[in-house]
Amino acid sequence: LSFSFSLIQQWIPAADPPKSQLSSSSPSTTTTTMALPPPPPPPPTTRKTATAGPPTPSRSQELLPQDDEEVVQSVVSGALPSYSLESKLGDCKRAASIRREALQRVTGRSLTGLPLDGFDYDSILGQCCEMPVGYVQIPVGIAGPLLLDGSEYSVPMATTEGCLVASTNRGCKAIHLSGGANSVLLKDGMTRAPVVRLPNIERAAQLKFYLEDPHNFDTVSMVFNKSSRFARLQSARCTMSGRSVYIRFCCSTGDAMGMNMVSKGVQNVLDFLQADFPDMDVIAISGNLCSDKKPAAVNWIEGRGKSVVCEAVIKGDVVKKVLKTSVKSLVELNKDKNLVGSAMAGALGGFNAHASNIVSAVYLATGQDPAQNVESSHCITLMESTNEGQDLHVSVTMPCIEVGTVGGGTQLASQSACLNLLGVKGAHKETPGANARRLATIVAGSVLAGELSLMSALAAGQLVKSHMKYNRSSKDVTTHAAAAASS
Ligand code: ADP
Repeated sequence: LSFSFSLIQQWIPAADPPKSQLSSSSPSTTTTTMALPPPPPPPPTTRKTATAGPPTPSRSQELLPQDDEEVVQSVVSGALPSYSLESKLGDCKRAASIRREALQRVTGRSLTGLPLDGFDYDSILGQCCEMPVGYVQIPVGIAGPLLLDGSEYSVPMATTEGCLVASTNRGCKAIHLSGGANSVLLKDGMTRAPVVRLPNIERAAQLKFYLEDPHNFDTVSMVFNKSSRFARLQSARCTMSGRSVYIRFCCSTGDAMGMNMVSKGVQNVLDFLQADFPDMDVIAISGNLCSDKKPAAVNWIEGRGKSVVCEAVIKGDVVKKVLKTSVKSLVELNKDKNLVGSAMAGALGGFNAHASNIVSAVYLATGQDPAQNVESSHCITLMESTNEGQDLHVSVTMPCIEVGTVGGGTQLASQSACLNLLGVKGAHKETPGANARRLATIVAGSVLAGELSLMSALAAGQLVKSHMKYNRSSKDVTTHAAAAASS
């Protein structure tokens, strides 16, 4: 099997898009300069979809043998590069099948168990995955209904961690019986921060002052917003390090998660700046102050994507009957574990019990970028007693929920079905961005449910353990211990 080293060399992950993909498109006449302008209604245009149809066979296809076995042998011998199968054959499913067979022969390893059939390989071409040989199955469970902001949601969770869905479901039940949860969205802006270098610190400071001068915002945002009818620049903040400048652009991106969109806008501005700053050397379109798919204080403090806070007041009797613990125990445990424990651990955004469990499962089910689980799971969980100690006030504050309902993996059949279940599939018709924002609040609401349930399991386990210690109960604690196992 001939692996494509040239392809590997060209590959740059979504977190760092290649410059060649960043040329501006769809010129816009928009000159809106508000910090958070409402996106314009989507004009009727041809939207890029993943299902672009099968690839057109290249001219060399005629030279290919018609027989699958002969093509497999060509791949095995190295005469035919594996990566070229889709374009050479003009048939994505056949390409995957042949690549898979060649791979098994070259490695001498069986792929039995990794399914090939039952997947639309056309839908991932040039968009989601290269050189496919099959697909991994992850079961999807449903937690809910989650009663959030007056609406009910059945939350799809793709996971192989036993108890996770059941536990989140229990949290949803406690929230529902208590009248539901409420959410607020504080901020909606995707960021990208290129690093540029000037000849000296004076020129670097001039660039910083130029970009941060409010008088220049109209011009810069007009250039930026040409990237898409949905991209609207909110800010461009500069951090200097010696003669290098890291420009953290932040923009709204409609229903898209927005990495592509913001990167295109950034490239537009960098090209534009070359006129006044010809001595500016663009080191990289991503200088890590973005900060994408890496833990970073800048995200925790400033937010990235959607910043959401979600709360619920859980009635005392629900805490007792459904969560099998007490308000007092939960409040104490939350302080000792999620606040003090995480502080002692030097946590960065990790002031929670298992937000990433819920975030990852919902992300996988709904076609989000699972690598963004890193910052999307930043969460502080707070618990206080309320109503004179009777009830529990619980909240999750999540500054970096990075989700979209168009683009990337969201349009694949399974993921799209899960978005449809939540009523947030695709682009929102009247208010672009409303579907993605709703999805972000559902993620936060689901995390709230997950936090409630796991913290309760832990509190109950602790309670039973201390009962045992002081010999006040001989109850079997194994069920509680099992429920608390996944913290
Ligand atoms: P991302 O920036 O998250 O990587 P993509 O660029 O892959 O997303 O997908 C966004 C695409 O979807 C753009 O081409 C955009 O014009 C189109 N689109 C259609 N409707 C919307 C919408 N409501 N919000 C955002 N993008 C939309």
